[in-house]
Order: sequence, then structure tokens, then C-alpha cells
Amino acid sequence: MSTVSFSFEVNKTIPGFQGRSGEITTPHGVIQTPAFVPVGTKATVKSVLPDSVEDLGAQAVLSNAYHLYLQPGPDTLDEAGGLSKFMNWNKPTFTDSGGFQVMSLGVGFKKVIDMNGDSLNSDDLIAEKRERLAHVDDEGVTFKSHLDGSMHRFTPEISMQVQHKIGADIMFAFDELTTLHNTRKYQERSLERTRLWALRCLDEHQRLTQQRKHKPYQALFGVLQGAQYEDLRRKAARDLGAMESSGISFDGFGMGGALDKSMLGTIVSWMAEELPVNKPRHLLGIGEPADLFAGVENGADTFDCVAPTREARTSAVYSPDGRFNVSNGGYKKDFNPIDKDCNCYTCANYSRAYLNHLFRAKEILGSTLATIHNLHFIVNLVDQMRLSINNGDFSEFKKEFLGRYQARGASTDS
Ligand SMILES: [Zn+2]
Repeated sequence: MSTVSFSFEVNKTIPGFQGRSGEITTPHGVIQTPAFVPVGTKATVKSVLPDSVEDLGAQAVLSNAYHLYLQPGPDTLDEAGGLSKFMNWNKPTFTDSGGFQVMSLGVGFKKVIDMNGDSLNSDDLIAEKRERLAHVDDEGVTFKSHLDGSMHRFTPEISMQVQHKIGADIMFAFDELTTLHNTRKYQERSLERTRLWALRCLDEHQRLTQQRKHKPYQALFGVLQGAQYEDLRRKAARDLGAMESSGISFDGFGMGGALDKSMLGTIVSWMAEELPVNKPRHLLGIGEPADLFAGVENGADTFDCVAPTREARTSAVYSPDGRFNVSNGGYKKDFNPIDKDCNCYTCANYSRAYLNHLFRAKEILGSTLATIHNLHFIVNLVDQMRLSINNGDFSEFKKEFLGRYQARGASTDS
């Protein structure tokens, strides 16, 4: 069990870009990349059976270390045999480090982390409207549980200990979350803090890997910050890309933090140009179709985002002509599937009218069926991108898909 059973191989690249197709091998199976990874925050993809998640084509699931730390607690997952076994998902799993939630739920970033900031520019403003529930210092973060108000502390070491017990195949180093509203000076300070935390994560990860040799190998990805600043993004990628400590280096990289969406592709390309080619890159929290194309084109291999599942539960569904709300009155007697060309279970068996009824009647099945469709749509979209890279026609596929998807304009996609 103790042998390193994690690897990545590049298959084809997109001419003129950093984007590529490839294959990540983990102890729980293989992920063909690029791939979209559905989010199962609390060890469940909300409202959907693991069998359905597998049937709709997902290759992996990403859970959240912060949520699982608070509930049910990492010891429960460890004793259960790890995340995969606990949730009956027999494929690869990821956990994020908990840093994002510790800081976003704690500090009150939620409103400003929407990646659209351009007017404000103050480190103080972030906490102004809300009680500061998390305090960041050089050692770690002290925060208040959003569940019961109890006080907790995460450090790089604790994040590693929690993630080792949770037992996902791919973990992320503990980083400090910043927003687009932080000043340049704060971004610099934070980048250095994240760099030092990355070293501590490597050391603790190696210690735990040695200590837990009987467990399947867990890969560790370093997380790159730097907001919208080219020099900071490149520095983060160079620093963490070359980083070694306790005789090990990162198995891959997470591209994280505040990303100005209008520059998404450019920012990803800065990092991809600096990172080692032979290690996988995960773009954290990105899942809208246009953003996925930009990420794939510029060198991101895997993606996760709550959007497809969260939106499904509010009756917003994806189609090749854009996103629409199936609970709107116009669909009351529309007996077509959500998308007539979709191969998912929902579209094979149910009409827009039925979904419209379920949402209006507040029936749980509405969320389940819409989630299956949305996840299939996004997972399949990224699968198609992979095929197009392998076939050498990514740019044509991108143009064709987005041309149709965005034709109806702002009413469909935010
Ligand atoms: Zn469908």
C-alpha cells in the first residue's frame, strides 16, 4: 500500500496553448483529463446516489475538509476506511484544504469572493459588514464553527492531519485565501505566507505518509495564489513548482484564490507556463462553460465547482442554447426533455413539464433529476473538450459550442 501509486501523463497538447489531455492515476482509479470533478462537500453529492454520479460519467468527486472536520470529524472517516469507502464512491476523491471555507465562512468573504470585484480595494472593507469570525496569523487560522459557534484552529499541519484521516486520493496544501479587494501589499504578504505554509504542508505530509504506510498513497497539490497580478502568479508557480522539503515535492498544483474572470485564461496561462509540464493542475472552483474552455485551453487539467449542483437545486438547468429556469411558467406543458440531445437519465425519461411540476410542488426529486442533468452536461462538456484535444480540433469545438451557448446572451449564463 505504501508505494507511490500516483502518476500523471500528458497525451496531446493544444497547438499554441498550454492546454493538454492526459491521465491521472490514483489508488482508486484513473482520471482522464481534462475532467470536471463534481463537488460532494459533506461526502455526498447533494440529492444524488453515488451510482447515479458514476452513471452520468463523473470520474472523481471533491469533498471539503472543513465541513468533514466539523462533521462527522476526521476520525470517523479514518475508521471507516477513508472517504471513498465511507461514501461508497469507488473512484478517485479529492479534498480541498479547508482554507477556503475557514476564511470565506469565517471572515465574511462570501459576498466579495464572487470574482467580479473592480471597485473596492481595501483590506479593511472585507470584514466591515460582518463580525470577523476568522483570524489569520503567520501560524494558521483561528475560526468559529458556522455550525455551533465553537472555536477551532487550522494550521498547515492540522490541515494535513485532517486530510490524511479523511483519506482522499488528492489533497491540497493549506493556503491563505485572498480576494480581489485585498491591496497589492496584502497579496504580496499573503503569497509569502502561503509559500511558507506550503513548505510546512510538505513536511507534515511526508511525516504522515511515513507514519501511515498501511494506507493508500495520498497525493498533495500545492496551491497557487497571486490574484490578478502576473508577477505574483508566476512567482507562486515557480516557487511551488520547484519546492522540495523532507525529500519530496508536490504531486500537482491547485490554481486558487481570487481570479478575475475576465482574465481567467490569461491568469491560468501565466501559471501553466511556469509549472512543471509533467504534473497535473487543478483549477479550483471554476465550472461555467466559457470558463472551462478558457481553463482547458490554457493548461488546467481538472476542475471542480458547486455551480452545476447548486443551480440544479434552484431549477436552473443547462442546455446547448444556454441555461434556463425549468420552473418558469412557460415550461408547464412543455413535454420535451431539458435537452433533446442529452444522454442523461433525466432527459431519457422526464419532461420539462414534469420537472416544472416537481419544483413548483417542492418535491425533492426535482433537485435529484436536475442535478443529474446538470452534472452530466458539464462533465460531458469537458469530456468533449478532451476528445477534441485528442482529435486536434479543440478550437473549432470551442467556437461552435460557445457560439451557440452564448447566442441568447446574458439571460442564460451569468
Ligand atoms: Zn440531460
